Amino acid sequence: MARCSKEVVLKVIEQEKKKLDNTSVFGGFSRFLKGWLQKEGNHPQEWLEQLENYEDLSREERRRLLLTIESALRASPAPGKGVSPKSRKFVPSLAQPVRYLKGVGPALEKKLNRLEIFTVEDLLFFFPRTYRDRGTIKPIRSLQGVGIETIEGQVVQHKIEPTRRGPLLKVVVSDGTGEIRLVCFNRGYLAQFLKKGTWVRVSGSFRYAFGAWETAAFEYEVGKLKTADFERLVPVYPLTEGLTPKKLRTVILSALETCLHEVPEILPPALRERLQIPTKREAIRELHLPSAASFEELQARRSPAHLALILEEFLLFALSLKIRRRTLETLQVPPCPLESPLAERFIRSLPFSLTEAQKRVCLEIARDLASGRVMNRLVQGDVGSGKTIVAVISALRVVETGRQVAFMVPTEILAEQHYSRFREPLAALGVRVGLLKGGNTKGKRQLLEAIQKKEVDIVIGTHALIEEKVAFADLGLVIVDEQHRFGVLQRAKLREKATVPHTLVMTATPIPRTLALTLYGDLDVSVVDEKPAGRKPTRTLCFSLEERFKAYSRVRKLLREGRQAYVVCPAIEESEEEIANVQEVFEELQKKWLSEFRIEVIHGKLPSREKEGIMHRFSRGDVDVLVATSVIEVGIDVPRASVMVVENAERFGLAQLHQLRGRIGRGSEEGVCILLAALSGENVRKRMAILTATDDGFRIAEEDLRLRGPGEFYGVRQHGVPEFHLADPFADWPLLEQAHREAERIIAEDPFLEKPEHRLLRQEIERRFGRYLEFGEVG
Ligand code: ADP
Ligand code: MG
Repeated sequence: MARCSKEVVLKVIEQEKKKLDNTSVFGGFSRFLKGWLQKEGNHPQEWLEQLENYEDLSREERRRLLLTIESALRASPAPGKGVSPKSRKFVPSLAQPVRYLKGVGPALEKKLNRLEIFTVEDLLFFFPRTYRDRGTIKPIRSLQGVGIETIEGQVVQHKIEPTRRGPLLKVVVSDGTGEIRLVCFNRGYLAQFLKKGTWVRVSGSFRYAFGAWETAAFEYEVGKLKTADFERLVPVYPLTEGLTPKKLRTVILSALETCLHEVPEILPPALRERLQIPTKREAIRELHLPSAASFEELQARRSPAHLALILEEFLLFALSLKIRRRTLETLQVPPCPLESPLAERFIRSLPFSLTEAQKRVCLEIARDLASGRVMNRLVQGDVGSGKTIVAVISALRVVETGRQVAFMVPTEILAEQHYSRFREPLAALGVRVGLLKGGNTKGKRQLLEAIQKKEVDIVIGTHALIEEKVAFADLGLVIVDEQHRFGVLQRAKLREKATVPHTLVMTATPIPRTLALTLYGDLDVSVVDEKPAGRKPTRTLCFSLEERFKAYSRVRKLLREGRQAYVVCPAIEESEEEIANVQEVFEELQKKWLSEFRIEVIHGKLPSREKEGIMHRFSRGDVDVLVATSVIEVGIDVPRASVMVVENAERFGLAQLHQLRGRIGRGSEEGVCILLAALSGENVRKRMAILTATDDGFRIAEEDLRLRGPGEFYGVRQHGVPEFHLADPFADWPLLEQAHREAERIIAEDPFLEKPEHRLLRQEIERRFGRYLEFGEVG
């Protein structure tokens, strides 16, 4: 077999990262990669060992391993020409692996790699997590014993005191105004460094004991410095095992010294002057070695250095989105006529009439589709507001012009459900719908062929839709349902498949515009702000875990009235534990609480055929109780199920719970949602109280945002927000907005960044955010 190039291997890793199931290569991905790395030589043994045991790693471990290998491969120069690293001369360059820095050996490199630091550039951009204020240097006499304080003096005495655990070194330091004792627990070796007569500066938390100040938690520096050299603000970095702050700082300082001057100044000088921000190099240095900024500014990420670097990152990102949008706007696509007999017929066939909000949003979409330009629209609407129908109507407009539609949903169960719900009514209109599943399911090849031959009009599926193999004959529209579970990146991939399809994103999570911009790119937004008439609000009750008896008696009563119920268990990301949990609850229900009813279990790990069967039986009414993980959270629609129990509700986010209960109360009966929660903390009580008090998704989202913080709320930490070095779209909103305004300004005067002062900007965008520009070249 010919040896694969590094590029091919990187592609394969990219593939595997999507599913982490060892299937991206025939014969096993891990075997393939291990073999390749071995042939290449010169890679850490650790990787090979982990690859050997790939099947036993958790998903998270697999992901981490792949990230590590991927970035190391990207950072390393062309592989294996038999040149050993030793024989290469050190050339200062940002792209060099860290091992070329003075003082970085293989052991240290490994530790740095664990922090995702592979190149000198990574090191320069590895910024402190926070800062410590050591205060000014004080006379010992005026120590106060509050917070971190710093003194400077001379070692005057070593005392060895016997203790139960052996001799304990105490070093006495005097500055003429008083004495302090340094208590050196497990640091007996300090006697060598703090010899009598040595000048030393000590920062620590001091307390007054036995007639003198002493400290056991302290840092020190020896040697008498000019006061001007005293570093009052000390950066605090994220660390990894075996890497001391001192060591890390030394390496960073060495990178600053040798390579900082190579960092390109990307922002046009005029812009920098107008905003009065420092140069990039000054800013990088300042964050590692703060001198000008105040402690408060640094803590709040509001120092001029922060502003400069964060703004630059946001600006690059905003520019890439705007360039992409510009590019899209210049593209012509065949317009879909405003009149659509197919959509009309479908609407007439519905057993209800559309709400005013649905009509309005449908019209907004129809206008986009008729404009001859590419549509990029986000539809927001609370659970149950009827977004799916809006999506289907839009799909029909596109199908009518002879093009295909990809309908992407986050779970297989939801895909099946949409499929079984719409296949027949659409077939009656002559529209062919296909269901594409992951893995090697039966009939998949035929379906893929049919898609390629345009024998299918609408394809519903999960991320299976973005696998390379799916080739649409003529993809006209991509619908992404319950969007916040997909990253920008995934959407981009799917859209590579056709010339330029329209995009429609549907989400139940209210998103501030700036964040929408960040997460999804530059989108137009429509809001379905009304629910179908006649809906009775769901009643929500909260019980503590000890009140299970009460809770399930209630459920029993409701079931006896002929209702159906969901019992939802918290999901622990596709783990075995999750299944055990569901199984346990199932057994308890069967034995104890609900023994007279028909109960079934459903979770993400079941083969899709089984899931299909269970959902089918449940929606037909052959099953009374469905015990499920939160796979049912998104979009499932069984109107007859009107009761829901959520086990360990405290483990869910509020928005998620709101989505969950959106599954019930869709029919004519009032829904009843019972939250079973460990009501331990004040916070949990508060959260549950919000849910029992209001049914307003926007309010709930706001509260959730306030109580849990945005990253977790939107679930984006795990879901591909573009990786910024320093900028954080959630913490730094105002700057994100400013960056969008600046980007607007730049693009207005130079749409494709062709002016010389924008050349570096453009290069950097291509380097860092190039994947957002997938519609051809910039300019
Ligand atoms: P979501 O916005 O949460 O995706 P769905 O599209 O799943 O909501 O719709 C929820 C339920 O409301 C479905 O059973 C759907 O058939 C029904 N529905 C949608 N629009 C209307 C309407 N205008 N009148 C009555 N019921 C509707
Ligand atoms: Mg939905």
